[in-house]
Formats: sequence, structure tokens, C-alpha cells
Amino acid sequence: MARIVMKFGGTSMAGIERIRNVAERVRREAEDGDEVLVVVSAMAGETDRLVQLCREAAALHDPSEYDVVVASGEQVTAGLLAMTLQNMGLEARSFMGWQLVRASGVHGNARVDAVESGLLDDALKSGTIAVIPGFQGISDEGRLATLGRGGSDTSAVAIAAGVNADRCDIYTDVDGVYTTDPRIVPRARKLDAITFEEMLELAGVGAKVLQTRSVGLAMRADLPLRVLSAFEDKPGTRVVAELSGADMERNQIAGIAADKNEARVTLTGIADAPGMVAKVISPLAEAGILVDMIVHAATPNTGSSDLTFTVPRASLAQAMAVIEQHRHEIGYSELICDDSVAKVSIVGVGIRSNPSLAATMFETLAERQINLLAVSSSEIKVSALIAEPDLDLAVRVLHTAFGLDSE
Ligand code: ADP
Ligand code: ASP
Ligand code: MG
Repeated sequence: MARIVMKFGGTSMAGIERIRNVAERVRREAEDGDEVLVVVSAMAGETDRLVQLCREAAALHDPSEYDVVVASGEQVTAGLLAMTLQNMGLEARSFMGWQLVRASGVHGNARVDAVESGLLDDALKSGTIAVIPGFQGISDEGRLATLGRGGSDTSAVAIAAGVNADRCDIYTDVDGVYTTDPRIVPRARKLDAITFEEMLELAGVGAKVLQTRSVGLAMRADLPLRVLSAFEDKPGTRVVAELSGADMERNQIAGIAADKNEARVTLTGIADAPGMVAKVISPLAEAGILVDMIVHAATPNTGSSDLTFTVPRASLAQAMAVIEQHRHEIGYSELICDDSVAKVSIVGVGIRSNPSLAATMFETLAERQINLLAVSSSEIKVSALIAEPDLDLAVRVLHTAFGLDSE
């Protein structure tokens, strides 16, 4: 008998008909003799609607009250699924995030610290299917906390690790992880397997099929993940520690990711002296702003340098305000921002050992006259910041150049 966590995303939970379809899948798994826990998202569009209501209620609102509002979507679907399962003659009950998941950090983007598995163990032992709302936990202060957009993936993995599940299956509206977003590039190809490392990088640079934190958590817990269609019976994609057999033969690049959630900030004419980058980046960090690509270069023999970095678009206004507040300490000539930029990235374990892959990326973009505004790289990833209108073309030409197009 295996212990399995099944997670269903928003599209799979959107309406009673679809919840019945989910219940049917859960039933099949339970009838195979497995112990089943189900983690659910809010119905598609519901979290966006709740976020908008918070904005309308108060432009600057208390983040802990925001969590109270946005966590409600998952409470509804958890109850509805438990009822539907009961109606099919199965033993099932819902639990709330506050009973199970301890979280800390910023409201609206909290981290999971621990899962209290006792209640779940008891339910499973008595043959009950546990239905758990994703996205929510409880803080040390006893307040509801949500785990960031897409956070139900992380709830599912944390719960799977907490109850020592054998597997965590993520059911969604595509039938696996593709070489790039199949909704943008129809020629994208489904991967049979991808490594945790590659998936972590792909998610980190914009492939929202899994929340980045969920992948990091699964990797640390060495918990096998699968990404599967909630609507079709297909094998999906396995997310594994290492590729083996035929999967090792696949392309050195696993995929291409696109991220429109970027804005660029440049400070010109700052002193070419120790401590200057810290003077800019530290106040941003204190304000909780995530700084991503950082490019700093001194112009030789001028005593001056420029600093360019990117921040999430939603944080741009705040980032500009923080820098202006520190204008005198930093001492820059000009502060320039641009929110019509985007990031395109190639990800693959091949990058580690094959320098021609980065070269191919730059040559391919150059052939299409796509200008690079900034570049950053890690062991298995190369990212380029480009003008947003060039993004779709960039993804398509890179996808072709790396031999990823499906036949
Ligand atoms: P859920 O509601 O099930 O959590 P999400 O919308 O969060 O679903 O994630 C699934 C979506 O991720 C897909 O519909 C697809 O558009 C998008 N996506 C982005 N990159 C990829 C990729 N490389 N492979 C598969 N899907 C991707
Ligand atoms: N409902 C939340 C969101 O839309 C969490 C999730 O679906 O994973 O971000
Ligand atoms: Mg999601």
C-alpha cells in the first residue's frame, strides 16, 4: 500500500462538474488500496477575484487581513470535494490549513516551516481520505498565512514530505512539463522526465507549472513528483533526482522559459569605489524587494560606474522610491527605469559542460536583431533581458535553435 498526495489546480476545481471529475480520480486511487491525501486550489480565477476585492477595499491593506480573504477560495473547494467524495460513498473529510501547516515570513508570501502530521495519520489509518486546502497555513502569531501565488503546489509537497508519502502527484491543465509553455509555443514538446535542478531553475525563471518553492522542497525531501493532466489519462512528467536510460539522451537544454514580470532599473554615474553596490541593494533588501539580474561595470579610468538590476514589476514603484530616498548617500547622476522588459532563459544540465550552448543562444538572438539589455547565468541556466515585444519571437527561435520543436 502506498501513501499518495494528489494536488489539483484551479482549472481542475472550477465548478461542480470538474470537482466530480477530480473525485472520480481520487476514488480510483483509493480503490487501488492506496492511502490518499488530496490538496486543492481555489477555483480558477477565484484568487484573482479575491485579490482585486482587497485592492478595492483599501489600496494599502493589512497583509494579514489580505491572507484571511485570499485563503478563503481553497476552503470552499476543500469542503466541496470532501462532500462530493462522501456522496460517492467514500470516507472523506476536510482539514483546514491552520490545523496542519505552520508558516512564517511575510504575509502573502509565507514559507512552510512544519507540517503537523498527527491528525492526518489518524485519518489515513481509519481509511479516511484527507482533503486539504492548499496555499494556507498558520503563523506563529496564530494568524492565517498564505504561501504566495501558486502556493498550493508547495502545500502539497510539504504535506507529502510531512506524512512521509511515497509520491506527490500534481494534476493540472496541461499533461506534463513541456520544453516551454505549450500555450505560447504550440510546437513545445512534453518531457518524460526532468531533474529537480532543471525544474527548480525553469520554475524560478517563469515556468509557472510548479511553484519554485515546491520544487526546492521536493528536492530536499527527495520526494518523487509527477506532473499530470487532471483531464486525460496520460503518463505526465516525472521530476527526479537524476535522469536515467533514454531520458539521458535527450537534448542538453531541457527547456526555455519566459518571464514578463520584470522591470529594469539603472543608476548611472555612481562612484567606482568599494561598497557602492551594497549602498543600493541593501535598502532594497530591507524593504523586502527581490532584486534579480544585477549588472555592475566600472568604466576604466573615469572613477565612475553604472549599475543595472531588475525587480518584479509590481515592486518597481517602491524600488524607485527607496532609491530616491537614498539619493544623497548613493550619489548617482541619473535614475532610469523601464517596465517593458522581459527575461528569456535557457535551462539544462548540458550548460554545465558545454560552452557552445550559451554561444548558440546569443547568436540566435543576434540573427533576429534582438538586443540584450542584461545577461546573467548560473551553472545550468543562461538568462537574457530583452525588450518585451521581442519575447515571443525570442522563445520561438531559441526553441527551434536548440532542437526542441516537436515534429
Ligand atoms: P494550476 O492551476 O493547475 O496550478 P497553473 O496555471 O499554475 O496551473 O500552471 C499550469 C500552466 O503552466 C499551464 O497551463 C501552462 O500554461 C503554464 N506553463 C508555463 N511553462 C510551462 C511548461 N514549461 N510546461 C508546462 N506548462 C507550463
Ligand atoms: N489559489 C492560489 C493562487 O491562485 C494558489 C494556487 O492555486 O496554487 O495563486
Ligand atoms: Mg499553479
